[in-house]
Amino acid sequence: MTFKRAFTEAVSESTEKGFADAGIISLHGDARFINPHEVLIGNEQVTAETIILALGTVPAPLTIPGGEYAVDSEFFLDMDELPERIVFIGGWYISFEFTCIAHTAGADVTILHRSQRLLKQFDKDLVTLLTGVMVEDGIKIQPEHPGEAIEKEEEGYRITADGEIFFADLAVNATGRIPDFTGMDLDQAAITAGKRGILVNEYMQSISQPHVFAIGDCAASGMQLAPVADREAEIVVGTILNGTSQTVDYSGIPSSVFSLPPLSRVGLSELEAEAKGLNFSVNFVDQSGYPSSKRIGKKKAACKVSAYFSRSSFNPLGLLYTYIRYKVLPWIAEEESFTRNESDSPYIHKSIKRRALALVMRYCFDQSINITNTVLTFCLNST
Ligand SMILES: Cc1cc2nc3c(=O)[nH]c(=O)nc-3n(C[C@H](O)[C@H](O)[C@H](O)COP(=O)(O)OP(=O)(O)OC[C@H]3O[C@@H](n4cnc5c(N)ncnc54)[C@H](O)[C@@H]3O)c2cc1C
Repeated sequence: MTFKRAFTEAVSESTEKGFADAGIISLHGDARFINPHEVLIGNEQVTAETIILALGTVPAPLTIPGGEYAVDSEFFLDMDELPERIVFIGGWYISFEFTCIAHTAGADVTILHRSQRLLKQFDKDLVTLLTGVMVEDGIKIQPEHPGEAIEKEEEGYRITADGEIFFADLAVNATGRIPDFTGMDLDQAAITAGKRGILVNEYMQSISQPHVFAIGDCAASGMQLAPVADREAEIVVGTILNGTSQTVDYSGIPSSVFSLPPLSRVGLSELEAEAKGLNFSVNFVDQSGYPSSKRIGKKKAACKVSAYFSRSSFNPLGLLYTYIRYKVLPWIAEEESFTRNESDSPYIHKSIKRRALALVMRYCFDQSINITNTVLTFCLNST
């Protein structure tokens, strides 16, 4: 816990010193706008020509009777002891990650999710594989069980979901995170915000107040991920200090659910590619027998690579497709029959497929092909 708290507690002295050495003044306290160019921090009034907002998000409130009994992710990560029975309300990144941690540490864990589809940003087949592994390991996953009420019992909590009762020593609100500007008084500065956050243009400038920039989770821009926030910060600093006017390229941002096994993606999902009307082919590889899967004692692993190609215009991927279709695939077929006839080694057979996958990925990266519109990969515990 000491190690963990080193990351989550107040900004370290060395960081503060670094700021001071760089000529940055640090003020501590809740900031709020007085007018478009003035912010109050505690009793200190600060005037600025340019303002950057990096306010983050807060857990979405659990608006069911007894919702106040559910703790948030911050509380969960700060517990010194693990309760025996934990119910997570909401089936999203945070509940999948925490569920696997708590289960591995010996807790009896249940995820209640309101709809049939969990982790809907990921392809259904891989999510089904993941939930299958988790259920086999003893984690209870209940889709179509929206949390309806939490009641405090003498010992623990009684949680009602879809009319069913679940008992727990701890209920965790894992229904997502939202921006919360109540303390910031955005109205005083006439800064426009929507449900997703502060409305910004491609340079991360507020659409209503161009001297105010919003970055990270509080901006209605990219995914809520730390590297996205970092990139937006770099771009904004470049714009303000050097007048570079660059924009953030959100394509091809990878993301992972750190479950056991982990699930990762980059590029478009199959559904997203279909919705765009892209012409693509999918290569699904069951990697359950790979050492990387066996190493962590998991029975399932898989990866998926889908290549999008266009034959109507000159496109390197069109060439790549032709190359794979007419050169690589026949070569694999030949090698496979050789493998089966001559050595009957499934390992060689798999390694050829893996080489073909690697070839596609390497080609795209080497050619700096924008993988959002061209290649999508999903990996469940893939190397
Ligand atoms: C449990 C959990 C796990 C996550 N795991 C990952 C992960 O594995 N990988 C990943 O990339 N991302 C992960 N994220 C998301 C990541 O933490 C965020 O995307 C990132 O921190 C966003 O940075 P930010 O600077 O926009 O906001 P934050 O890091 O949230 O910082 C905002 C800060 O502003 C302060 N603040 C808010 N209002 C005011 C005010 N009025 N005055 C003064 N200060 C104020 C807040 O107190 C906070 O300190 C995770 C998030 C959570 C909650």
